[in-house]
Amino acid sequence: MELSTLKGIGEKTISLLAQCEIFSVEDLLSYYPYRYEVLCPSQELQRDESSIQVVNAFIESEAKVSYIRKNFNTLRFRANVHGKLISVSIFNRAFLKNNLQVGRMITLIGKYNEQKNQFVANDIKLNAITENKITPIYHLVKGLKNIQFEKWILESLRMPISSMDYIPENFLEQYQFLPKSQALNLIHFPKDLTDVKKAKMRLVYEELFDFMFKIMYLKEKESHAYGLQRVMDEDLVWQFVEHLPFTLTIDQKNAVQEGIKDLTSEKRMNRLLLGDVGSGKTIVAMILMYANVLSGYQSVLMAPTEILATQHYSSFLKLFQDYPIHIELLVGSMKPREKRDVYDKIATNQVDIVIGTHALLNDQVQFANLGLVVTDEQHRFGVNQRKNLQNKGYRSDVLYLSATPIPRTYALTIYGDMDTSMIASKPNGRKAVITKVKKNSELKEVLAAIYDELKNGHQVYVVAPMIEESDDTELTDVYFLKEKFALAFRNVNIGLLHGKMKPDEKDVVMNSFVKGETPILISTTVIEVGVDVVNATMMVVFNAERFGLATLHQLRGRVGRSDLQSYCYLISDQETKRLQVLEESNDGFYISEKDFELRGQGDLFGIHQSGDMSFKIADLRRDYKILLQAKKDATTYLLSKEYLHHPYYHALTQKIDFTN
Ligand code: ADP
Ligand code: MG
Repeated sequence: MELSTLKGIGEKTISLLAQCEIFSVEDLLSYYPYRYEVLCPSQELQRDESSIQVVNAFIESEAKVSYIRKNFNTLRFRANVHGKLISVSIFNRAFLKNNLQVGRMITLIGKYNEQKNQFVANDIKLNAITENKITPIYHLVKGLKNIQFEKWILESLRMPISSMDYIPENFLEQYQFLPKSQALNLIHFPKDLTDVKKAKMRLVYEELFDFMFKIMYLKEKESHAYGLQRVMDEDLVWQFVEHLPFTLTIDQKNAVQEGIKDLTSEKRMNRLLLGDVGSGKTIVAMILMYANVLSGYQSVLMAPTEILATQHYSSFLKLFQDYPIHIELLVGSMKPREKRDVYDKIATNQVDIVIGTHALLNDQVQFANLGLVVTDEQHRFGVNQRKNLQNKGYRSDVLYLSATPIPRTYALTIYGDMDTSMIASKPNGRKAVITKVKKNSELKEVLAAIYDELKNGHQVYVVAPMIEESDDTELTDVYFLKEKFALAFRNVNIGLLHGKMKPDEKDVVMNSFVKGETPILISTTVIEVGVDVVNATMMVVFNAERFGLATLHQLRGRVGRSDLQSYCYLISDQETKRLQVLEESNDGFYISEKDFELRGQGDLFGIHQSGDMSFKIADLRRDYKILLQAKKDATTYLLSKEYLHHPYYHALTQKIDFTN
């Protein structure tokens, strides 16, 4: 049902909701709260200074505002809590002043300091809460308010929409799950946390059942999928390997062997190559792409960014310079004429290896005989994008590369439809990146360290949070940093890179960094993915607390790519406990485990960037047992062929058949 049927939703709101990937009333209902605020107001003050308390109070004096500077004020008044007179202060709420009439009962939320007899409030509810209240809190973009959202949800819940139950009836009965509509009511507006638990259990199971059904269906199809029948001179492949500037690690060699086996078997290759950042996945892909070319077919590699595609392109050119292999690049920023030229070459088989971005998905890209499709940073693409590329070939083999660090048991389940190769070890001679967490007040020390690296002819990345995120909290943005750095490092070329630049502008900056012409590169996380500049030995991240540990680990993976000692400075004034994990370890798997422990749910699976692994309510780690059960049930369901009678699953399988 259309969003515009809800009261108070116009064009502008629709576009804001779209940013949350909400396009219909149904989407809205499955946009679940990410936490609940539980307020049980007490009448008396607790002495505990360290914890947040919720108390009801009567206002005793008129509120006074003092302005410290622009956008910076404090509001103070006296209040009576159960006969005790206290002073209350709250930051930046000058606008509340006129609503705080003497005698009014309000609810204060904050901390009480007994010695000073002062209550420092984080929030004030003008309408006092008189009974326990649970408020659902939603992850919303700027411009949307939680309270509006609650209203729309409430209205949606009253609408006669059919909320399709994706749990087949026999399982519903077996587990005595709540009906879907009831679960939706309770997840958004629970009476208590037991309600949440009951509703959640069922919604999680539903989501995972649906997910596992897809995976198991794909796996079952895959087991009958024929690939290309190739003949290939394997010796030529190993000769190429011999002539590489380095020796492959055992894991890399195994992955190549597994890949060659796939390529030469009659079954279609459908393999995921998993390995931490810097473990050397690209070269494995490169070797297999070469093997595929030797057997007479074209290979294609799709990367998520132009920077990355361009970089792969130049390293391919270098490694194949003595071989009669024709390589082309295809990215969005190329001129139409250049693109057309590449389309022609692809269609007429004048090119063996094509490297590019989403631009490869263009309808005009028609391969003469595509044999192997490789997707780098697989989790950055949605399933459809990957399949689209795959469908440009007939029975093409498929290889995915991913740095998502997940333990093997998880990988086997969630990538259950694919075969997996793991690269667990880093290339020999790599030194662990030395990582230190620093405060802004220790910046001098960091600048001195940067200076040392530059003196030794090495390069430095400086990363700050994205520009658009700097709302009221004052974040170090890249322009500001560049000014500062220009002052600290006179006569040093400093590059600036951010997501709002045009692709060709980005290229210029990136290329000059790759060539070593700009010793310092200041950037947002656009450099996060895959970029490989061996001479860069230092990574400095400002406002490090804004990033997930997995992202920071990926960022840090940009350095330490050679036998040079590399360093990473994480600058943050706010929290260090989480960041210390990175000081302790360079192991992506360990880090993601810790991130999970500390944050409840880390960015372990790259959930925010991910195309197909984005769950609405399930958390693969927390709900792993449910996942296994769902896998079992989904398999039973698939084998029973019951799904042929279920409108949703039947349609789903037809869609999969059609796109495969
Ligand atoms: P990722 O797995 O993160 O994609 P890359 O494939 O970009 O990592 O490899 C990181 C760097 O390691 C590259 O510069 C690559 O040339 C180099 N490399 C890969 N394998 C080896 C090896 N066996 N020995 C030494 N260096 C290697
Ligand atoms: Mg890579």
